[in-house]
Amino acid sequence: MFNSLSEKLESAFKNIKGEGRISELNIANTVKDIRRALVDADVNYKIAKEFTDKVKETALGSKVLLSVNPGQQMVKIVQDELTALMGGTESEFNVTGNPAIILIAGLQGSGKTTFSGKLANYLKTKKGKSPLLVAADIYRPAAIDQLEVLGGQIGVDVYSERENKDAVSIAQNAIKEARSKNKNVIIIDTAGRLAVDEVMMTEVANVKAAVNPHEILFVVDSMTGQDAVNTAAAFNERLDFSGVVLTKLDGDTRGGAALSIKYTVNKPIKFMSSGEKMDTLDVFYPERMAQRILG
Ligand code: GDP
Repeated sequence: MFNSLSEKLESAFKNIKGEGRISELNIANTVKDIRRALVDADVNYKIAKEFTDKVKETALGSKVLLSVNPGQQMVKIVQDELTALMGGTESEFNVTGNPAIILIAGLQGSGKTTFSGKLANYLKTKKGKSPLLVAADIYRPAAIDQLEVLGGQIGVDVYSERENKDAVSIAQNAIKEARSKNKNVIIIDTAGRLAVDEVMMTEVANVKAAVNPHEILFVVDSMTGQDAVNTAAAFNERLDFSGVVLTKLDGDTRGGAALSIKYTVNKPIKFMSSGEKMDTLDVFYPERMAQRILG
């Protein structure tokens, strides 16, 4: 994950790692290399610049210049800033309602349906919940089939109404179904489009207004870098979602989405998804991710 970014950051630290003493010029050069590494990872230039300005300020304001191991101190400063950039601490995931209602939104192909299955599996196996998956994609019957296959694999019921073309009433009926079957979490997988469009946004916004979800998760393909961030901004404007899910982190992603989404929409990344199997879902911990990036 983020191999290229990790390598570039490692090489940025090379000229000060192992040094007994460094100068302001050393710091300036290191910071410039870090900025380049971030931009290469598809982090927006403004974010990369603000990030490295902060790193530089902290480094110059601390005792890095005088310390016995300036390289290590610089790595620590960057690690702390990366952690902060990705949200600081892990965030809460609210499944306290009965049923807790979780709305899943995002573009087609982002990994929504796969994630819905994984989340149901996670809540069932790790949190002792009894989930109901809801197929609210009224355009693609194949999406309903896909959710039913996933539900079958993990032993979770799937609610759908193949003849109903109204996502709002499907969601409302699913809540009744959950109550009658003693399901305490419902996960509503909505339709996506290949690009942000008004029909999709209105539909998801209507579902939101009708069911008042405890969590609205925006699912985004981490391979799409700055596009991911722009899409997040568009969804957030309409939906005011509660958290982000980064998918396809098992692929050769550069890291831009993970590093800039929190900054851009000011919503936490809650989960990370890294594979097609149902057990490849993890809670997102900014600190662990920062450690991982820095090796
Ligand atoms: P949706 O259109 O948003 O519901 O997206 P899908 O859940 O159908 O996912 C689109 C494609 O991406 C499918 O082929 C999935 O198997 C694949 N996919 C989803 N999540 C991941 C992931 O975390 N890693 C990888 N490698 N593939 C994924």
